[in-house]
Amino acid sequence: PPTGGAELRRAFLDFFAARDHLVVKSSSLVPHDDPTLLFANAGMNQFKDYFLGYATPEKPRAVSVQKCVRAGGKHNDLDNVGFTPRHHTFFEMLGNFSFGDYFKEDAIALAWEFLTRDLGLDPDRLSASVFAGDRTTPPDEEARAIWKSYLPEERISALPAAENFWSMGDTGPCGPCSEIHYDQGPAYPDDDRYLEIWNLVFMQFDRDDAGTLTPLPAPSVDTGMGLERLAAVVQGVRSNYDTDLFAGLVTAVEGRAARDLDPGAVRTAARVIADHARATAFLIADGVLPANEGRGYVLRKILRRALRFGRKAGVPEPFLPEMTDLAISGMADAWPELGLSRDLILRVAAFEEERFSGTLATAMGQLDRVLARGSVQDAAEVPGEDAFRLYDTFGLPLDLVEEVAREHGMSVDHEAFEGKPAAASTAYRDIAEGQPTRFLGYDGTEADGCRVLAALAAEESGSPVPAP
Ligand code: ATP
Ligand code: MG
Ligand code: MG
Ligand code: MG
Repeated sequence: PPTGGAELRRAFLDFFAARDHLVVKSSSLVPHDDPTLLFANAGMNQFKDYFLGYATPEKPRAVSVQKCVRAGGKHNDLDNVGFTPRHHTFFEMLGNFSFGDYFKEDAIALAWEFLTRDLGLDPDRLSASVFAGDRTTPPDEEARAIWKSYLPEERISALPAAENFWSMGDTGPCGPCSEIHYDQGPAYPDDDRYLEIWNLVFMQFDRDDAGTLTPLPAPSVDTGMGLERLAAVVQGVRSNYDTDLFAGLVTAVEGRAARDLDPGAVRTAARVIADHARATAFLIADGVLPANEGRGYVLRKILRRALRFGRKAGVPEPFLPEMTDLAISGMADAWPELGLSRDLILRVAAFEEERFSGTLATAMGQLDRVLARGSVQDAAEVPGEDAFRLYDTFGLPLDLVEEVAREHGMSVDHEAFEGKPAAASTAYRDIAEGQPTRFLGYDGTEADGCRVLAALAAEESGSPVPAP
């Protein structure tokens, strides 16, 4: 059976293509026409109109490998990265979809067949959850009954709506989910032993303004499975970061870290940098550039967080361009846009690293002084004004201040921070967002790359962006 990340990606597409699913390319990380969404965060995003009945798909079945970023908005796993074995900011979501075609029976049968037959996973290690039901919605007895032909009863659990009921918004299509978990064995700490690998969503109801659920005439299926988690399970490793998708990057960072540090701290830093290098490459390739707000600010936070962890682990600077380049070489076969935008990606990484590394030490020194203040220690909270000053003067993102505060068992006064006026220029915001591959292509890369850097520099000095 397939084991490498690239093979698994291929195997998934082939399996569903052979079962009449149209292979659909990933959409950009920057959603077109969807202001409600910061980044693509699930395979279903690009099919939203099919589920809502606003558009008709070419075929009633689809399969995709979707680029996802969960580092802001409704789904934000940024703080988890480095600390759980299973979360990334950027990851690839494998998904199969039925638009009013097959439903629960086939969705479960297909998932089971792929995992146990094509990948040869041990059926005894698999378990499933179904929706437990609540005040307004009945439990998903249908899914439970189907799972009973695959799993003993004790390996089917019922979970509440927070985990196992999905809805697109307050109204509209919604329905119960069923998650597939893999038992990594008793050697794993409780939280990590049962790993969620695949989520099957059964879009079954239409919820109206009053909260009433009406069965949809043609129920649909939306599934999502993280490629990195699947690889961890198939390769029998403890963490996504130990799979072939990450191992080279993680080892490269570890090899550059200071020798006299706690190995756990170095490992965390290596995971953070490996993850953030990938996210940086993919976001820039899809047209996002560092900025002081919106999507560009999420990228900037990711870059700055990587720098802070690099410094903590004693990784000599600059390291971001090199690590980002490693991420590109590892992924460019599957994602050619990385190769096409390589030049731009590396220049932006270098520029951001250089620009922040000068102030990082000063900013961290200031933050240490704030944390040492008696009144701050007593309240176990960093005042909003201090957090704001660190942001405004040194460009230290609030998330980073919070992360450092957390490391000291403290928090940050959010309300006071947000009460402050919006800071800093956003001069190149317009070119930073939603314009994938406008800067780079088969031709003209040099000139376009220069324009971007000129824009970055202009933002730095507060002057307007030069015209193209
Ligand atoms: P978790 O509970 O572990 O945070 P989730 O329930 O939020 O996962 P879903 O929204 O159900 O995740 O997404 C479908 C699948 O995508 C998950 O089963 C998992 O395999 C994968 N996935 C979700 N979030 C991440 C992430 N941050 N990094 C890597 N893979 C992820
Ligand atoms: Mg989650
Ligand atoms: Mg979950
Ligand atoms: Mg889930």
